[in-house]
Amino acid sequence: MARRVIHDFVIPARTGRAVEVMQGQVLRIHLVEDKQVGDCAFFNLHDRREAFHVGQSWALNVMLGHGNGKCFKYFYSKPPRENVMFEVVEDTVGEHWSSMGGRCSRRLLELRDGDTDHRSCQENLAEAFAPWGIDGDDIIDVFNVFMNVEVNPDGTFEIHPPTAMAGDHIDLRARMDVLAGISACPADRNAANDGRPKPLGVTVFAED
Ligand SMILES: [Zn+2]
Repeated sequence: MARRVIHDFVIPARTGRAVEVMQGQVLRIHLVEDKQVGDCAFFNLHDRREAFHVGQSWALNVMLGHGNGKCFKYFYSKPPRENVMFEVVEDTVGEHWSSMGGRCSRRLLELRDGDTDHRSCQENLAEAFAPWGIDGDDIIDVFNVFMNVEVNPDGTFEIHPPTAMAGDHIDLRARMDVLAGISACPADRNAANDGRPKPLGVTVFAED
């Protein structure tokens, strides 16, 4: 099967970008440097009310035997539709914070650090989606790609440096036309990006 590259770009450190992935095409998110995470939000390209939902994706993958809180195979949209938006066809890492849905935001960083002027995934995604008429309030859940988190028995969690290294990737085949937003997480005060924000690579390809 021949691969035809549709889009191929690098998201600079601390920024975000959105890309259209048509049904059947594969979205590859890959690391150009070691230990970087991304926060990704997905919409039905033709109806933004249909968006990726972490809770339902976690639940349905566990119930149907297709994954767990660290990785799952099918990305579902939020109720009441619960359609598969993406299917994982390759994943060299298998370690994501699949069960969370949250992300760094200006408000979170203000509450946590007293910092009111730090870039964040929320603002990156809002900027990336703006040309499609989607704003920050429209962004529901994100997929924390490559993020390495351990949940403790008492319900707290710890963020560890990613195990993902340069060349690692996840391939998501679109089961509908999807608008995908990806933020190269700007966090630099915890282990999420091993202390230093770096770029993320994105390739969209068709298999003919
Ligand atoms: Zn972030």
